Amino acid sequence: MKVLIVGGGGREHALAWKCAAAPRVSEVLVAPGNAGTAAEPRVRNVGIAAEDTAALLRLARAERVDLTIVGPEAPLVAGIVDDFAAAGLSCFGPRRDAARLEGSKAFAKEFLRRHGIPTARSATFTRDTFDEPWMRSQRTPLVVKASGLAAGKGVVVADSIDAAIAAARAMFAGQFADAGREVVIEEFLAGEEVSFIVMADGRHILPLATSQDHKRLNDGDHGPNTGGMGAYSPAPVVTPALHARIMREVIEPAIRGLAAEGMPYSGFLYAGLMIAPDGTPNVLEFNCRLGDPEAQPLLMRLQSDLTLLCEAALGARLDMVSAQWDQRAALGVVMAAAGYPESTRRGDVIEGLERAARLPGKIFHAGTRLESGKVFTNGGRVLCAVGLGSGIAAAQRAAYALADSVHWPGVHYRRDIGYRAVHAACP
Ligand code: AMP
Repeated sequence: MKVLIVGGGGREHALAWKCAAAPRVSEVLVAPGNAGTAAEPRVRNVGIAAEDTAALLRLARAERVDLTIVGPEAPLVAGIVDDFAAAGLSCFGPRRDAARLEGSKAFAKEFLRRHGIPTARSATFTRDTFDEPWMRSQRTPLVVKASGLAAGKGVVVADSIDAAIAAARAMFAGQFADAGREVVIEEFLAGEEVSFIVMADGRHILPLATSQDHKRLNDGDHGPNTGGMGAYSPAPVVTPALHARIMREVIEPAIRGLAAEGMPYSGFLYAGLMIAPDGTPNVLEFNCRLGDPEAQPLLMRLQSDLTLLCEAALGARLDMVSAQWDQRAALGVVMAAAGYPESTRRGDVIEGLERAARLPGKIFHAGTRLESGKVFTNGGRVLCAVGLGSGIAAAQRAAYALADSVHWPGVHYRRDIGYRAVHAACP
């Protein structure tokens, strides 16, 4: 069996590595991949961008690919699954209409409201409908969100009305190009942030193991939001009672609602949630794909054959399979390039990868590039060092031993990934 992974980040390295480990898989193609996927046995990089659907389609046909798994959101929102399906090719992910859950926050908010799924109160504006007096009647902080895809940068938590208005106007003026043509203004919710990821096949739902990421740049969850500075699995904050509540109040009505509206959801579905003090799981956002970096520790723990799970989902048989998980915890530390997230520097040589390869755990590459046998930084989030251990604290030690063995000028990473879970485990 031949598998194609679309994308070139850490999530895609983990997907490719996991699929290549399946006995039924002969080869995994990754488009475009990175220096990490280039070095994996039975994995081959193909120089096609993740957004170039026409070229990916030609590749899948020419290489007789049996299964395609799409990592990032942009091709999904653009409709890659529809195009592959029209060509008779198996491609795991939601179709264009269902991927609007991530592609349009305005659509997602309306959908949540129609189906009574808990979420922050909000209003959606364009430049023409923007209602400044209404804004001035709101309480602060206010959350201002570009409706479209903005690479994780389209959300501003504004402490004053003036700052909120300025943020909205900057979005209307083109700060995020088309993604800011509609802007969602949302009430600020306090609570504990939790992510929840499932696989769905249109009707049935297979929840993945629990996981949690750290979005802020600095230790103690301070500093600016980033794409994610680390993640771990399991997440003790998701107790069995909370798990049941999220399934009942969020995931099940979302999958039922999408099917009822004629756009059955097949693919990974990621709900970003704010758990209110009374336990209500409020939806902050939906993502139509695996989280990055959550995918890396999750796939380290997955013992089942991922290709079988994806095929079951594509055949609407997700109720007939189960996922087996390593009982150990996994924790990933994202190692970032100089200047990330504001102004990333590229082209630094990464040292110590051979040494790290001899240690337990696994380093997944994200923004890396191979040239003349050397590995160079080539993006903001460069590596994710993942450790396994009997608990979160042990996984954390293993992950930091790995991270500390690799170096390049300007490398920086948080020293406290998983601290909440470590504290939860040893009060
Ligand atoms: P989003 O892309 O919508 O998940 O927003 C990015 C981040 O902004 C979230 O992970 C939260 O930390 C924060 N955020 C988004 N919406 C809200 C809200 N309504 N209240 C508080 N924080 C929020």
